[in-house]
Amino acid sequence: MVQLLENKASTLDEVRQKALKCNKCPLYLTRTNLVFSDGFPGAKIMLIGEAPGADEDASGIPFVGRAGKLLNQFLEQAGINRKNDIYIANILKCRPPQNRTPIPSEKEACFEFLKAQIDIIQPKVIILCGSCAMSMFMDKTQPISKVRGQWFNYNEKTKMIPIFHPSYLLRNHSTEEGKPRALTLNDLKNIKSFCK
Ligand code: URA
Repeated sequence: MVQLLENKASTLDEVRQKALKCNKCPLYLTRTNLVFSDGFPGAKIMLIGEAPGADEDASGIPFVGRAGKLLNQFLEQAGINRKNDIYIANILKCRPPQNRTPIPSEKEACFEFLKAQIDIIQPKVIILCGSCAMSMFMDKTQPISKVRGQWFNYNEKTKMIPIFHPSYLLRNHSTEEGKPRALTLNDLKNIKSFCK
């Protein structure tokens, strides 16, 4: 187990070194830090977000700004420990200027690094956090409100499940049953029990 984790960590570091040298799209010119990942490489759960924002760009760590703090609260309420139970990455490793939505050429350029991360982590579940992440792996015509909480196959060993992005939850405050916040908590609790 220790050896497996050491292998994962060193292979992930090789991918990170390649991403640091990447110039396949212009975002490397304007970023402060590459935002590669956070969390535990041996985790059964991998969460994929959209792209770094200002706080992530400044720190080099995904999901540390307002959306990240809300994500942490939801993970904690679902019994998912951010340090030990989950590995977190984004579709893009570099911040788009003014936090604009990633464009297709950026997503395609960056995708090889994310696929390599998935191959190394081999999670039991991939959480597709928000529609940007969802649209890279699934039918782009389906709105996230229709497919969130449903299970899909990534491959024989790995399931995928879309959830609402915490930035969306920041704009939707109600905690009533059936509203996005309650649905997301329920999705995360289902993921936790699937990974027991
Ligand atoms: N939103 C994301 O999708 N990823 C981050 O790392 C931060 C905010």
